[in-house]
Amino acid sequence: MKAAVLCGVKDIRLEDVEKPSISDREVLVKIKVALTCGTDAKVYQRGGHSKMLSVPSVFGHEWAGIVEEVGSHIKNFKKGDRVVAANSAPCFKCYYCKINQFSLCEHLTFLNGAYAEYIKVPEAIVETNMFQIPADIIYEEAAFLEPLSCVVHGVEEIGVKKGDKVVISGAGPIGLIFLIVLKSIEVNVVVMEKNEQRLKVAETLGCDKGFLIKENDDFIVEVKRFFDKGADIAIEATGIAKAWEDSIKMVRGGGRVLFFGGCKQVEKIELDTELVHYSQITMKGVFHHTPAHVKKAYDLIIRKKLNLSRLITDKIPLDKVLDAFEKIIKGEGIKIAVIP
Ligand SMILES: [Zn+2]
Ligand SMILES: [Zn+2]
Repeated sequence: MKAAVLCGVKDIRLEDVEKPSISDREVLVKIKVALTCGTDAKVYQRGGHSKMLSVPSVFGHEWAGIVEEVGSHIKNFKKGDRVVAANSAPCFKCYYCKINQFSLCEHLTFLNGAYAEYIKVPEAIVETNMFQIPADIIYEEAAFLEPLSCVVHGVEEIGVKKGDKVVISGAGPIGLIFLIVLKSIEVNVVVMEKNEQRLKVAETLGCDKGFLIKENDDFIVEVKRFFDKGADIAIEATGIAKAWEDSIKMVRGGGRVLFFGGCKQVEKIELDTELVHYSQITMKGVFHHTPAHVKKAYDLIIRKKLNLSRLITDKIPLDKVLDAFEKIIKGEGIKIAVIP
């Protein structure tokens, strides 16, 4: 079968690889759609990921498809089922799993290889994080399960509620999913972004105010003024250290900051200790998702609450996947659907 293989920094190759064979408790799925993801774009530029994959590796982790073959012990799925799965599952045995912090599981089973004709879903994911797609949900919508699970995790951990004032840094795919989720629960949202096109998308999705970030602009003062004393919550969704620092400055006293975008490993931020202390600011890092959040995301998708597939700006065949990444890292387009 054809599959996109990540071989190093900015090195994706479309290769003929062996179609995966499955064991008793695994499922083989024919990919109907795979979505590009900001994480994949980062992994592409950095040539790997400390947790998700080491190169060379089949690539891509957001997908939906149709079951091609099931192992002899599989009861819940059969050939022809339309399915979607998250990109990992916890072990349920380690220290962190025992204290219900599943995203910190020491033995997360990760699944990559969505930019391919077929994907083999391992036992841990089949058991915990794979779902049937109802007939009235298109593959493109279902494929948002993984990023939506992460966003639902972030929203819950930082405790956003109706009427809150929230600033989101970054109108990439994750920032925009945050925006869609928060608007669905009637939150006041300001979005900051340096790419004009993306900011326009945020505005069409209903953000209350968009700020175009320019060099030397005092947008922090403007955001604080817009919300009177500052945001209740700042959500950092860029993975840029400067945006982490700015997020802390945009919340009111007693405000909370969600660090959601993972920066490069070496990056450090400067922290105004006086501000954090005397303004009683809470800062929280959130990574990945847990089975409960995946289930909640699945429910949101099948209840047709969000219509996330409107974030898909382009559809391309598998052999154009390299072009898709070049587009994404230039900030052209939001989510690109790869149709093998
Ligand atoms: Zn993703
Ligand atoms: Zn575990």
